[in-house]
Amino acid sequence: MKMIGILGSTGSIGTQTLDVVRNHPDDFCVTALSAGSNIALLEEQIREFSPKLAVVGSEKLAKELKSRVKDLNVKICSGMEGLLEMAVQPEMEIIVTAIVGMIGIRPTMEAIRAGKDIALANKETLVTAGHLIMPLAEEHHVQILPVDSEHSAIFQCLHGESRKAVHKLLITASGGPFRGRKRAELADVTLADALKHPNWSMGQKITIDSATLVNKGLEVMEAKWLFGVALEQIQVVVQPQSIIHSMVEFEDGAVMAQLGTPDMRLPIQYALYYPERKYLPGERLDFRTLSQITFEQPDTETFEGLPLALRAARDGGSMPTVFNAANERAVAKFLRKEIRFLDIYEIIRTSMERHRVIAHPDLEEVLQTEQETYEWIESRW
Ligand code: NDP
Repeated sequence: MKMIGILGSTGSIGTQTLDVVRNHPDDFCVTALSAGSNIALLEEQIREFSPKLAVVGSEKLAKELKSRVKDLNVKICSGMEGLLEMAVQPEMEIIVTAIVGMIGIRPTMEAIRAGKDIALANKETLVTAGHLIMPLAEEHHVQILPVDSEHSAIFQCLHGESRKAVHKLLITASGGPFRGRKRAELADVTLADALKHPNWSMGQKITIDSATLVNKGLEVMEAKWLFGVALEQIQVVVQPQSIIHSMVEFEDGAVMAQLGTPDMRLPIQYALYYPERKYLPGERLDFRTLSQITFEQPDTETFEGLPLALRAARDGGSMPTVFNAANERAVAKFLRKEIRFLDIYEIIRTSMERHRVIAHPDLEEVLQTEQETYEWIESRW
Protein backbone atom coordinates (compact mmCIF):
# COMPACT_ATOMS: atom_id res chain seq x y z
CA MET A 1 0.00 0.00 0.00
CA LYS A 2 1.37 3.40 -1.03
CA MET A 3 0.76 6.39 1.28
CA ILE A 4 -0.03 9.47 -0.79
CA GLY A 5 -0.70 13.14 -0.20
CA ILE A 6 -2.30 15.49 -2.73
CA LEU A 7 -1.48 19.19 -2.82
CA GLY A 8 -4.49 20.77 -4.53
CA SER A 9 -6.89 17.82 -4.20
CA THR A 10 -9.98 19.81 -5.20
CA GLY A 11 -8.70 20.80 -8.65
CA SER A 12 -8.74 19.04 -12.01
CA ILE A 13 -5.59 16.93 -11.40
CA GLY A 14 -6.39 16.48 -7.71
CA THR A 15 -9.88 15.05 -8.29
CA GLN A 16 -8.60 12.78 -11.09
CA THR A 17 -5.86 11.53 -8.76
CA LEU A 18 -8.55 10.63 -6.24
CA ASP A 19 -10.37 8.81 -9.04
CA VAL A 20 -7.28 6.66 -9.58
CA VAL A 21 -7.18 5.98 -5.82
CA ARG A 22 -10.90 5.13 -5.86
CA ASN A 23 -10.26 2.54 -8.62
CA HIS A 24 -7.47 0.91 -6.59
CA PRO A 25 -8.52 1.11 -2.94
CA ASP A 26 -6.14 -1.69 -1.88
CA ASP A 27 -3.07 -0.02 -3.37
CA PHE A 28 -3.27 3.51 -1.94
CA CYS A 29 -3.96 5.22 1.35
CA VAL A 30 -4.53 8.99 1.30
CA THR A 31 -2.70 10.59 4.23
CA ALA A 32 -3.09 14.32 3.45
CA LEU A 33 -5.15 16.61 1.23
CA SER A 34 -5.10 20.35 0.54
CA ALA A 35 -7.33 22.93 -1.13
CA GLY A 36 -7.35 26.68 -1.55
CA SER A 37 -10.93 27.66 -0.76
CA ASN A 38 -13.28 24.85 -1.87
CA ILE A 39 -13.95 23.48 1.59
CA ALA A 40 -17.25 21.89 0.60
CA LEU A 41 -15.46 19.51 -1.78
CA LEU A 42 -12.56 19.08 0.64
CA GLU A 43 -15.01 18.02 3.35
CA GLU A 44 -16.47 15.37 0.99
CA GLN A 45 -12.96 14.15 0.19
CA ILE A 46 -12.04 13.96 3.90
CA ARG A 47 -15.17 11.92 4.60
CA GLU A 48 -14.43 9.54 1.73
CA PHE A 49 -10.64 9.10 2.07
CA SER A 50 -10.01 9.75 5.81
CA PRO A 51 -6.67 11.61 5.59
CA LYS A 52 -4.90 12.46 8.86
CA LEU A 53 -4.22 16.02 7.73
CA ALA A 54 -6.06 18.57 5.58
CA VAL A 55 -4.84 22.05 4.66
CA VAL A 56 -6.82 25.06 3.41
CA GLY A 57 -5.86 28.50 2.14
CA SER A 58 -6.67 30.65 5.18
CA GLU A 59 -7.17 30.48 8.94
CA LYS A 60 -10.78 31.56 8.58
CA LEU A 61 -11.54 28.65 6.22
CA ALA A 62 -9.63 26.27 8.50
CA LYS A 63 -11.91 27.28 11.39
CA GLU A 64 -15.00 26.67 9.29
CA LEU A 65 -13.72 23.30 8.04
CA LYS A 66 -12.81 22.24 11.61
CA SER A 67 -16.36 22.79 12.73
CA ARG A 68 -17.73 20.87 9.70
CA VAL A 69 -15.57 17.80 10.38
CA LYS A 70 -15.48 17.89 14.18
CA ASP A 71 -16.87 14.33 14.26
CA LEU A 72 -13.73 13.07 12.45
CA ASN A 73 -10.14 12.47 13.53
CA VAL A 74 -8.38 14.84 11.10
CA LYS A 75 -5.99 17.68 11.80
CA ILE A 76 -6.81 20.90 9.91
CA CYS A 77 -4.10 23.45 9.12
CA SER A 78 -3.91 26.53 6.92
CA GLY A 79 -1.76 28.66 4.63
CA MET A 80 1.89 28.10 3.71
CA GLU A 81 2.62 26.80 7.21
CA GLY A 82 0.02 24.09 6.66
CA LEU A 83 1.38 23.17 3.21
CA LEU A 84 4.89 22.88 4.65
CA GLU A 85 3.62 20.66 7.48
CA MET A 86 1.87 18.49 4.91
CA ALA A 87 5.06 18.24 2.82
CA VAL A 88 6.94 16.53 5.66
CA GLN A 89 4.10 14.39 7.03
CA PRO A 90 5.97 11.29 8.32
CA GLU A 91 3.65 8.57 6.97
CA MET A 92 3.37 10.05 3.44
CA GLU A 93 5.62 8.41 0.79
CA ILE A 94 4.66 10.31 -2.36
CA ILE A 95 3.07 13.71 -2.87
CA VAL A 96 1.11 14.70 -5.97
CA THR A 97 1.77 18.38 -6.61
CA ALA A 98 -1.58 19.32 -8.17
CA ILE A 99 -1.60 22.87 -6.84
CA VAL A 100 -1.45 25.67 -9.42
CA GLY A 101 1.31 28.29 -9.59
CA MET A 102 4.55 29.18 -7.83
CA ILE A 103 2.94 28.62 -4.42
CA GLY A 104 3.99 25.00 -4.96
CA ILE A 105 7.75 25.68 -4.84
CA ARG A 106 8.33 25.69 -1.08
CA PRO A 107 6.15 22.65 -0.27
CA THR A 108 7.77 20.71 -3.14
CA MET A 109 11.26 21.51 -1.87
CA GLU A 110 10.32 20.64 1.71
CA ALA A 111 8.85 17.32 0.57
CA ILE A 112 12.08 16.51 -1.30
CA ARG A 113 14.16 17.34 1.77
CA ALA A 114 11.95 14.94 3.74
CA GLY A 115 12.64 12.21 1.16
CA LYS A 116 9.15 12.07 -0.40
CA ASP A 117 8.81 11.12 -4.06
CA ILE A 118 7.13 13.80 -6.16
CA ALA A 119 4.42 13.15 -8.75
CA LEU A 120 4.77 16.52 -10.40
CA ALA A 121 1.87 18.26 -12.14
CA ASN A 122 2.69 21.75 -10.86
CA LYS A 123 4.94 22.74 -13.78
CA GLU A 124 5.38 26.34 -12.58
CA THR A 125 7.68 25.07 -9.79
CA LEU A 126 10.14 23.48 -12.23
CA VAL A 127 9.99 26.39 -14.66
CA THR A 128 11.00 28.88 -11.98
CA ALA A 129 13.04 26.76 -9.57
CA GLY A 130 14.15 23.75 -11.63
CA HIS A 131 17.78 24.70 -10.99
CA LEU A 132 17.13 24.27 -7.25
CA ILE A 133 14.66 21.37 -7.32
CA MET A 134 16.46 18.93 -9.61
CA PRO A 135 19.81 18.93 -7.73
CA LEU A 136 17.91 18.76 -4.43
CA ALA A 137 16.01 15.69 -5.65
CA GLU A 138 19.28 14.05 -6.68
CA GLU A 139 20.88 14.84 -3.34
CA HIS A 140 17.95 13.27 -1.45
CA HIS A 141 17.53 10.32 -3.87
CA VAL A 142 13.98 11.39 -4.58
CA GLN A 143 12.15 10.56 -7.81
CA ILE A 144 10.44 13.36 -9.73
CA LEU A 145 7.72 11.57 -11.69
CA PRO A 146 6.01 13.64 -14.39
CA VAL A 147 2.22 13.93 -14.42
CA ASP A 148 1.93 16.43 -17.28
CA SER A 149 0.73 14.28 -20.21
CA GLU A 150 3.52 15.36 -22.59
CA HIS A 151 6.25 14.72 -20.05
CA SER A 152 4.71 11.44 -19.00
CA ALA A 153 4.68 10.44 -22.69
CA ILE A 154 8.40 11.26 -22.98
CA PHE A 155 9.09 9.47 -19.69
CA GLN A 156 7.27 6.39 -21.02
CA CYS A 157 9.21 6.52 -24.32
CA LEU A 158 12.47 6.73 -22.36
CA HIS A 159 11.71 3.69 -20.22
CA GLY A 160 14.58 1.25 -20.61
CA GLU A 161 16.50 3.63 -22.89
CA SER A 162 19.77 5.41 -22.21
CA ARG A 163 19.29 9.16 -21.77
CA LYS A 164 22.55 9.60 -23.66
CA ALA A 165 20.88 8.17 -26.78
CA VAL A 166 18.28 10.98 -26.89
CA HIS A 167 18.65 13.23 -29.92
CA LYS A 168 15.49 15.30 -29.62
CA LEU A 169 12.29 15.58 -27.58
CA LEU A 170 9.18 16.32 -29.65
CA ILE A 171 6.51 17.94 -27.49
CA THR A 172 3.08 17.87 -29.09
CA ALA A 173 0.53 20.68 -28.79
CA SER A 174 -3.15 20.73 -29.68
CA GLY A 175 -2.84 24.38 -30.75
CA GLY A 176 -5.64 25.36 -28.37
CA PRO A 177 -9.07 26.82 -29.16
CA PHE A 178 -7.70 29.57 -31.44
CA ARG A 179 -5.49 27.44 -33.69
CA GLY A 180 -5.58 28.78 -37.24
CA ARG A 181 -6.52 32.34 -36.23
CA LYS A 182 -4.28 35.33 -36.89
CA ARG A 183 -3.35 37.99 -34.36
CA ALA A 184 -6.01 40.52 -35.41
CA GLU A 185 -8.67 37.86 -34.90
CA LEU A 186 -7.60 37.44 -31.27
CA ALA A 187 -8.13 41.07 -30.27
CA ASP A 188 -11.72 40.63 -29.16
CA VAL A 189 -11.93 36.99 -28.12
CA THR A 190 -13.85 36.47 -24.90
CA LEU A 191 -13.03 34.57 -21.75
CA ALA A 192 -15.68 31.97 -22.65
CA ASP A 193 -14.02 31.44 -26.07
CA ALA A 194 -10.59 31.02 -24.47
CA LEU A 195 -11.92 28.49 -21.95
CA LYS A 196 -13.18 26.15 -24.69
CA HIS A 197 -10.23 23.77 -25.06
CA PRO A 198 -10.79 21.46 -28.06
CA ASN A 199 -9.59 18.20 -26.43
CA TRP A 200 -8.80 18.46 -22.71
CA SER A 201 -10.88 19.38 -19.69
CA MET A 202 -8.53 21.16 -17.25
CA GLY A 203 -8.35 23.90 -14.61
CA GLN A 204 -8.98 27.49 -15.78
CA LYS A 205 -5.39 28.74 -15.59
CA ILE A 206 -3.87 25.97 -17.71
CA THR A 207 -6.77 26.23 -20.18
CA ILE A 208 -5.95 29.90 -20.78
CA ASP A 209 -2.24 28.99 -20.94
CA SER A 210 -3.13 26.51 -23.70
CA ALA A 211 -4.98 29.20 -25.64
CA THR A 212 -1.98 31.57 -25.50
CA LEU A 213 0.56 28.75 -26.09
CA VAL A 214 2.24 29.87 -22.85
CA ASN A 215 1.54 26.34 -21.62
CA LYS A 216 3.71 24.88 -24.39
CA GLY A 217 6.49 27.30 -23.45
CA LEU A 218 6.23 26.26 -19.81
CA GLU A 219 6.34 22.63 -20.93
CA VAL A 220 9.53 23.17 -22.92
CA MET A 221 11.19 24.60 -19.80
CA GLU A 222 9.75 21.80 -17.67
CA ALA A 223 11.13 19.19 -20.10
CA LYS A 224 14.56 20.79 -20.06
CA TRP A 225 14.78 20.31 -16.29
CA LEU A 226 13.08 16.93 -16.09
CA PHE A 227 15.10 15.23 -18.80
CA GLY A 228 18.36 17.22 -18.60
CA VAL A 229 18.47 18.15 -22.29
CA ALA A 230 19.51 21.40 -23.99
CA LEU A 231 16.77 23.77 -25.18
CA GLU A 232 17.89 23.19 -28.77
CA GLN A 233 16.98 19.51 -28.39
CA ILE A 234 13.32 20.29 -27.77
CA GLN A 235 10.89 20.86 -30.62
CA VAL A 236 7.19 21.73 -30.42
CA VAL A 237 4.89 20.06 -32.97
CA VAL A 238 1.20 20.88 -33.31
CA GLN A 239 -0.87 17.68 -33.41
CA PRO A 240 -4.44 18.95 -33.28
CA GLN A 241 -6.19 15.68 -32.43
CA SER A 242 -4.16 15.25 -29.18
CA ILE A 243 -3.62 11.56 -29.88
CA ILE A 244 0.17 11.56 -29.81
CA HIS A 245 1.06 12.90 -26.37
CA SER A 246 4.74 13.46 -27.23
CA MET A 247 7.71 11.71 -28.83
CA VAL A 248 11.43 11.07 -28.48
CA GLU A 249 13.85 10.91 -31.40
CA PHE A 250 16.94 8.84 -30.63
CA GLU A 251 20.47 9.14 -32.01
CA ASP A 252 19.83 6.44 -34.63
CA GLY A 253 16.80 8.29 -36.02
CA ALA A 254 14.20 6.01 -34.37
CA VAL A 255 11.20 7.94 -33.06
CA MET A 256 9.15 6.57 -30.17
CA ALA A 257 5.74 8.03 -29.42
CA GLN A 258 3.11 7.49 -26.76
CA LEU A 259 -0.48 7.58 -28.02
CA GLY A 260 -3.80 7.44 -26.23
CA THR A 261 -7.12 9.14 -25.65
CA PRO A 262 -6.88 12.44 -23.77
CA ASP A 263 -7.31 11.16 -20.21
CA MET A 264 -5.10 12.61 -17.47
CA ARG A 265 -5.73 9.59 -15.25
CA LEU A 266 -3.24 7.64 -17.39
CA PRO A 267 -0.19 9.84 -16.66
CA ILE A 268 -1.33 10.26 -13.04
CA GLN A 269 -1.62 6.49 -12.64
CA TYR A 270 1.69 5.87 -14.42
CA ALA A 271 3.45 8.24 -12.00
CA LEU A 272 1.83 6.64 -8.95
CA TYR A 273 2.59 3.04 -9.99
CA TYR A 274 5.86 3.62 -11.86
CA PRO A 275 7.40 1.43 -13.21
CA GLU A 276 4.30 -0.85 -13.15
CA ARG A 277 1.26 -0.50 -15.40
CA LYS A 278 -2.27 -1.16 -14.20
CA TYR A 279 -5.69 -1.50 -15.79
CA LEU A 280 -7.36 1.85 -16.41
CA PRO A 281 -11.08 1.81 -17.24
CA GLY A 282 -12.18 4.29 -19.90
CA GLU A 283 -12.17 5.03 -23.59
CA ARG A 284 -9.43 3.43 -25.74
CA LEU A 285 -7.96 4.45 -29.07
CA ASP A 286 -9.70 2.56 -31.87
CA PHE A 287 -7.53 2.47 -34.98
CA ARG A 288 -10.45 1.19 -37.08
CA THR A 289 -12.31 4.46 -36.62
CA LEU A 290 -9.38 6.84 -36.26
CA SER A 291 -9.29 8.68 -39.57
CA GLN A 292 -6.20 10.88 -39.30
CA ILE A 293 -3.33 12.19 -37.22
CA THR A 294 -2.04 15.48 -38.62
CA PHE A 295 0.90 17.76 -37.85
CA GLU A 296 1.58 21.51 -38.15
CA GLN A 297 4.24 24.01 -37.18
CA PRO A 298 3.24 26.23 -34.25
CA ASP A 299 2.27 29.77 -35.36
CA THR A 300 4.73 31.71 -33.20
CA GLU A 301 3.90 35.07 -34.80
CA THR A 302 0.32 34.92 -33.60
CA PHE A 303 0.83 32.96 -30.39
CA GLU A 304 3.61 34.91 -28.74
CA GLY A 305 3.46 32.79 -25.59
CA LEU A 306 5.83 30.22 -27.05
CA PRO A 307 8.59 32.53 -28.38
CA LEU A 308 8.46 34.65 -25.19
CA ALA A 309 8.93 31.49 -23.13
CA LEU A 310 11.86 30.38 -25.28
CA ARG A 311 13.44 33.80 -24.87
CA ALA A 312 13.01 33.55 -21.08
CA ALA A 313 14.51 30.06 -21.13
CA ARG A 314 17.52 31.24 -23.15
CA ASP A 315 18.09 34.23 -20.82
CA GLY A 316 17.83 31.78 -17.91
CA GLY A 317 18.47 32.67 -14.25
CA SER A 318 15.55 34.69 -12.89
CA MET A 319 13.92 35.38 -16.30
CA PRO A 320 11.69 32.26 -16.37
CA THR A 321 10.36 33.43 -12.99
CA VAL A 322 9.45 36.81 -14.49
CA PHE A 323 7.83 35.10 -17.48
CA ASN A 324 5.85 32.78 -15.24
CA ALA A 325 4.87 35.33 -12.58
CA ALA A 326 3.80 37.86 -15.22
CA ASN A 327 1.72 35.18 -16.91
CA GLU A 328 0.13 34.06 -13.62
CA ARG A 329 -0.89 37.63 -12.82
CA ALA A 330 -2.03 38.38 -16.39
CA VAL A 331 -4.16 35.21 -16.55
CA ALA A 332 -5.73 36.04 -13.17
CA LYS A 333 -6.65 39.47 -14.58
CA PHE A 334 -8.01 37.95 -17.79
CA LEU A 335 -10.11 35.48 -15.76
CA ARG A 336 -11.56 38.47 -13.85
CA LYS A 337 -12.22 40.14 -17.25
CA GLU A 338 -9.96 43.11 -16.35
CA ILE A 339 -7.79 42.81 -19.47
CA ARG A 340 -8.12 41.52 -23.04
CA PHE A 341 -6.60 38.33 -24.41
CA LEU A 342 -3.65 39.99 -26.21
CA ASP A 343 -2.85 42.04 -23.08
CA ILE A 344 -1.55 38.79 -21.56
CA TYR A 345 1.36 38.89 -24.05
CA GLU A 346 1.89 42.60 -23.48
CA ILE A 347 2.13 42.10 -19.70
CA ILE A 348 4.60 39.24 -20.06
CA ARG A 349 6.72 41.04 -22.69
CA THR A 350 6.99 44.34 -20.80
CA SER A 351 7.69 42.57 -17.49
CA MET A 352 10.56 40.70 -19.14
CA GLU A 353 11.95 43.79 -20.88
CA ARG A 354 12.44 45.72 -17.63
CA HIS A 355 14.00 42.85 -15.69
CA ARG A 356 17.73 42.57 -15.01
CA VAL A 357 18.57 38.88 -14.90
CA ILE A 358 19.99 37.33 -11.74
CA ALA A 359 22.13 34.51 -13.12
CA HIS A 360 21.80 31.93 -10.31
CA PRO A 361 18.90 32.99 -8.09
CA ASP A 362 18.48 31.22 -4.76
CA LEU A 363 14.99 30.50 -3.43
CA GLU A 364 14.67 33.90 -1.75
CA GLU A 365 15.67 35.66 -4.98
CA VAL A 366 13.18 33.59 -7.00
CA LEU A 367 10.36 34.51 -4.60
CA GLN A 368 11.51 38.14 -4.50
CA THR A 369 11.55 38.30 -8.30
CA GLU A 370 8.01 36.90 -8.32
CA GLN A 371 6.89 39.56 -5.83
CA GLU A 372 8.60 42.42 -7.70
CA THR A 373 6.99 41.29 -10.96
CA TYR A 374 3.53 41.26 -9.33
CA GLU A 375 4.10 44.71 -7.81
CA TRP A 376 5.26 46.19 -11.10
CA ILE A 377 2.24 44.78 -12.94
CA GLU A 378 -0.15 46.08 -10.26
CA SER A 379 1.37 49.55 -10.54
CA ARG A 380 0.90 49.61 -14.32
CA TRP A 381 -2.25 47.62 -15.17
P1 NDP B 1 -7.03 23.67 -10.77
O1 NDP B 1 -7.18 25.14 -10.81
O2 NDP B 1 -8.12 22.82 -11.29
O3 NDP B 1 -6.72 23.19 -9.26
C1 NDP B 1 -5.75 23.83 -8.49
C2 NDP B 1 -5.72 23.26 -7.08
O4 NDP B 1 -4.85 24.07 -6.28
C3 NDP B 1 -7.07 23.30 -6.37
O5 NDP B 1 -7.15 22.25 -5.42
C4 NDP B 1 -7.03 24.65 -5.66
O6 NDP B 1 -7.92 24.73 -4.55
C5 NDP B 1 -5.59 24.67 -5.20
N1 NDP B 1 -5.11 26.03 -5.01
C6 NDP B 1 -5.14 27.04 -5.91
N2 NDP B 1 -4.62 28.16 -5.38
C7 NDP B 1 -4.26 27.85 -4.12
C8 NDP B 1 -3.68 28.58 -3.07
N3 NDP B 1 -3.37 29.88 -3.18
N4 NDP B 1 -3.43 27.94 -1.88
C9 NDP B 1 -3.72 26.64 -1.74
N5 NDP B 1 -4.28 25.89 -2.71
C10 NDP B 1 -4.54 26.49 -3.88
O7 NDP B 1 -5.65 23.34 -11.51
P2 NDP B 1 -5.28 22.07 -12.39
O8 NDP B 1 -5.59 20.82 -11.64
O9 NDP B 1 -5.75 22.23 -13.76
O10 NDP B 1 -3.70 22.25 -12.47
C11 NDP B 1 -2.85 21.99 -11.38
C12 NDP B 1 -1.40 22.00 -11.85
O11 NDP B 1 -1.24 20.91 -12.75
C13 NDP B 1 -1.02 23.26 -12.65
O12 NDP B 1 0.31 23.58 -12.39
C14 NDP B 1 -1.19 22.84 -14.10
O13 NDP B 1 -0.36 23.55 -14.96
C15 NDP B 1 -0.78 21.37 -14.02
N6 NDP B 1 -1.37 20.52 -15.06
C16 NDP B 1 -2.72 20.37 -15.17
C17 NDP B 1 -3.29 19.57 -16.13
C18 NDP B 1 -4.76 19.35 -16.20
O14 NDP B 1 -5.21 18.51 -17.02
N7 NDP B 1 -5.57 20.03 -15.44
C19 NDP B 1 -2.43 18.87 -17.12
C20 NDP B 1 -1.04 19.04 -16.88
C21 NDP B 1 -0.52 19.84 -15.91
P3 NDP B 1 -9.46 25.28 -4.74
O15 NDP B 1 -10.17 24.22 -5.54
O16 NDP B 1 -9.94 25.36 -3.36
O17 NDP B 1 -9.33 26.58 -5.44
